[in-house]
Amino acid sequence: MRAAGLRVTGPRLAVYQALDTATATGRHLTAAVVTDAVRTRLGAVSTQAVYDCLEALTAAGLVRRIEPAGHPALYETRVGDNHHHLVCRGCGRTADVDCSHGTAPCLTPADDLGFVVDEAEVVFWGRCADCAASQAPSSDGLRVRQARGPAGARPVLPSRAPGAAGPSFTTA
Ligand SMILES: [Zn+2]
Ligand SMILES: [Zn+2]
Repeated sequence: MRAAGLRVTGPRLAVYQALDTATATGRHLTAAVVTDAVRTRLGAVSTQAVYDCLEALTAAGLVRRIEPAGHPALYETRVGDNHHHLVCRGCGRTADVDCSHGTAPCLTPADDLGFVVDEAEVVFWGRCADCAASQAPSSDGLRVRQARGPAGARPVLPSRAPGAAGPSFTTA
């Protein structure tokens, strides 16, 4: 925190540690969950104070914020590796997935129209294994899955239906 030019305060430390603990087990926390964790640790802390901490830590590059459409913002301490996220349409579970390219931008537009592109924001939408299993796909669905096979040309992702993916993009 000091190396990033931030003054170390109790709330900032508690916010960072709550996120770092969650990130170690692959979880991403909402501001509300961070607030609960900080209050458990420090007692009365205002919601605004926690938001201010999250903002400062994010601006300093110590924390990453992701905002999957239709979900509250999520925070994590895994920064600097351009990793992407899998988001379950059923339960909202969000998981990290390494960037196969490694550095941003890992995708390039077919025509950049002169823009200097520095990042491609990639979210893989689908259903997590639990939701896919509990939603008992029809036998037709199963046949399609099997016909498609595990070694298709597409990246192997837990998306149940190809049509359920987000906006399409052109891979580099
Ligand atoms: Zn799910
Ligand atoms: Zn992540």
